[in-house]
Amino acid sequence: ASSALSRIGLAGLAVMGQNLALNIADKGFPISVYNRTTSKVDETVDRAHNEGRLPLTGQYNPKEFVLSIRRPRSIIILVKAGNPVDQTIAALSSFMEPGDTIIDGGNEWYENTERRIHEVSEKGLLYLGMGVSGGEEGARNGPSLMPGGSYQAYTNIQEILEKVAAQVKDDGPCVTYIGEGGSGNFVKMVHNGIEYGDMQLISEAYDVLKNVGGLSNQELSEIFAEWNRGELESFLIEITADIFRVKDEYGDGDLVDKILDKTGMKGTGKWTVQQAAELSVAAPTIAASLDCRYLSGLKEERENAAEVLREAGLKEEKEVKPGGIDKKRLIDDVRQALYASKICSYAQGMNLLRAKSLEKGWSLNLGELARIWKGGCIIRAVFLDRIKKAYQRNPNLASLIVDPDFAREMVQRQAAWRRVVGLAISAGISTPGMCASLAYFDTYRRARLPANLVQAQRDLFGAHTYERIDRSGSFHTEWTKLA
Ligand code: NAP
Repeated sequence: ASSALSRIGLAGLAVMGQNLALNIADKGFPISVYNRTTSKVDETVDRAHNEGRLPLTGQYNPKEFVLSIRRPRSIIILVKAGNPVDQTIAALSSFMEPGDTIIDGGNEWYENTERRIHEVSEKGLLYLGMGVSGGEEGARNGPSLMPGGSYQAYTNIQEILEKVAAQVKDDGPCVTYIGEGGSGNFVKMVHNGIEYGDMQLISEAYDVLKNVGGLSNQELSEIFAEWNRGELESFLIEITADIFRVKDEYGDGDLVDKILDKTGMKGTGKWTVQQAAELSVAAPTIAASLDCRYLSGLKEERENAAEVLREAGLKEEKEVKPGGIDKKRLIDDVRQALYASKICSYAQGMNLLRAKSLEKGWSLNLGELARIWKGGCIIRAVFLDRIKKAYQRNPNLASLIVDPDFAREMVQRQAAWRRVVGLAISAGISTPGMCASLAYFDTYRRARLPANLVQAQRDLFGAHTYERIDRSGSFHTEWTKLA
């Protein structure tokens, strides 16, 4: 009987799939689940039972899985990005019928989604590439969802997505139709790039407070908890406060100090920087955060360099600041530097999204993207409400930096920002993210740059021509004859 059919299906029951399936069932939508390795099906069925007898049915082969879902079928795939998605589509699509939809919820490269949209359309199938953010906890209790592709496919499951997504008070569920093609994956990719930037900037704040300010982990935990009650309130600041409180279970001291200083990555940050370069959009804060992950990986080389260059090492406090460091002032300065740096990083991410939207004709609504990032996802923050409002005030805003509210905030914070970066430079502590943001700010806000000299050089050695400030046309000079 059709009443026994599930409303939706989900294939791929690792961390994300299992939790998202339970979330969907929890919201009252009967769901069928499937995984290549069937032990994960049993695991998920057990959890559904234990977490409140949720309406979830385990399926053990692709055909029965597909046939257990009500038409038009919507099937979410949450497997490793790349080939596994193609293999899963191949396994399922032969049992699917025209009008059915495949929704890839993985961190997929957007062009793969565009290829698959085309491929499955030959069978009459619809397709969504849906970014999902929020990790394990978000998937279970309310993620931020970024679905792009077929609008019809979106409306088929809109009621489910709106219930399953994180809910933000007075601002609705953290989901919206992003746009056509691979736009959902692209937006998720840039979200991750911004996340790289945020994490880098927070780690620099930590570095300065610890190594210049001499703060203990206990103090750091308190400072981040306090910051989380102000303009920096966000998931990443909150978890940072928590991290500093965790003791090491294998010995004395705090766990954070025992963690190897090598950052892992899975590729979305690299894609973001590559796309920025492709589109000629400056994204120096995000690029700096990616570079730092690469440099962090060179642990042995860094240990060797620390030896070879020991004389360039950390300066004593009296060398950095003859009068000694005013801790309270430093903490307040770092908070302001972090906030201002963050605005620049988001300005870069948003401008990258706009450039891609223009190239692809996606008509991305930047304010709406800021809104759906307010809850559920890793970069969720109170601050995103201000970004939403900035784009509501002016959808054609050239940069967040020139929004009147952000502009005022940056000007108010610039003295503190410059003090922190200057102090870090004097102390020999790198703050690549904060420096990149400040340089971006200082470059963007200057009406005249030394680019005139670069143009002159290009014209001298390559006859590339230049434009003039006082008359139109393109000019070439025989520089060496005149010099
Ligand atoms: P994952 O570790 O990326 O992938 C494991 C899943 O992929 C398992 O279900 C596995 O099935 C399946 N799989 C791998 N190769 C397969 C193949 N050739 N054919 C069929 N199935 C195959 O899982 P995840 O961490 O839950 O992530 C899923 C997706 O969400 C990824 O794209 C990830 O980037 C994205 N994502 C993850 C997070 C996170 O916090 N983890 C957050 C946001 C987005 P078997 O059990 O049979 O091996």
